[in-house]
Amino acid sequence: MHIIGNPRSQQALSRRWRNEGKRIGLVPTMGALHEGHLSLVRASIESCDRTVVSIFVNPIQFGPKEDLKRYPRPFSRDCAMLKRLGVDAVFHPSPSAMYPRGFSTSIDVGGSLTRGLCAPRRPGHFRGVATVVAKLFNSVEPDSAFFGAKDFQQAAVVRRMVADLNMGVDVRVMPIVREKDGLAMSSRNAYLSGAERAGAAVLYRALSAGSGKIAAGERRSSAVRAAIRAVLGTVPLARVEYLEITDAETLEPLLSLRGRVLMALAVRVGGTRLIDNMCVRVPQGRLRRKIRRK
Ligand code: AMP
Repeated sequence: MHIIGNPRSQQALSRRWRNEGKRIGLVPTMGALHEGHLSLVRASIESCDRTVVSIFVNPIQFGPKEDLKRYPRPFSRDCAMLKRLGVDAVFHPSPSAMYPRGFSTSIDVGGSLTRGLCAPRRPGHFRGVATVVAKLFNSVEPDSAFFGAKDFQQAAVVRRMVADLNMGVDVRVMPIVREKDGLAMSSRNAYLSGAERAGAAVLYRALSAGSGKIAAGERRSSAVRAAIRAVLGTVPLARVEYLEITDAETLEPLLSLRGRVLMALAVRVGGTRLIDNMCVRVPQGRLRRKIRRK
């Protein structure tokens, strides 16, 4: 398994592979790998001839008060996991290799995708994400890139950027991998104390309650939100930062639910900020049929 420390060497390796006719898959990560990341790696290995996993804790996507310094970086352990899976290269640049002195270009994805959810709570975050993903794409030159639905808004922003800038990368979004109790796997779960970890499962229970309401015929966003909030309220350690129900394509808030709907939330459990979401397709016309039958 190659371990590559700068964009030029990664480009050279990728171009060699391309000349050999190999399809290249990229899995961008910040490391501290768990089964969620590994599901993306497996998907890449299955559909591509060469898989590159990038491990880069991207400083420009963290706010000044966020956990950049504290973010876990168990690099040797991560490499051992990736080697076992059969990954071909780990792209692990230093911050100065990615952002040398004088670096001054960034990518801003505008419009509805960056108006709500995490965007107003993390100013500059998606600019940092789009910029680093563009740099990773230019370094690895992948055919396909694999992202998790865990970061739903991020995946939507990346898709938009790829379409708008004709990047020619096939973006694949894979399902959320969860712990047994439903907690979405995340490198940040390591910050949770025992009691916080137990409480954190409330995010999934709450989203499931929302999805249950919709399945039972509820179409008012306010009622579904109330059902989700009621469950979140059962764990005093959990403080809601946002809870939004949006159209899954545009990420615009919905009053009345139809089509593909995203329920997304950010919750602080103790000092740790957790995000989770659930996407559901609202069955058409169900409520009306029910009323007619009565
Ligand atoms: P991160 O290292 O947190 O930046 O995540 C790297 C990639 O892994 C992103 O595309 C995430 O959406 C994805 N990912 C993180 N956690 C999960 C999970 N529990 N299930 C599926 N994908 C995940």
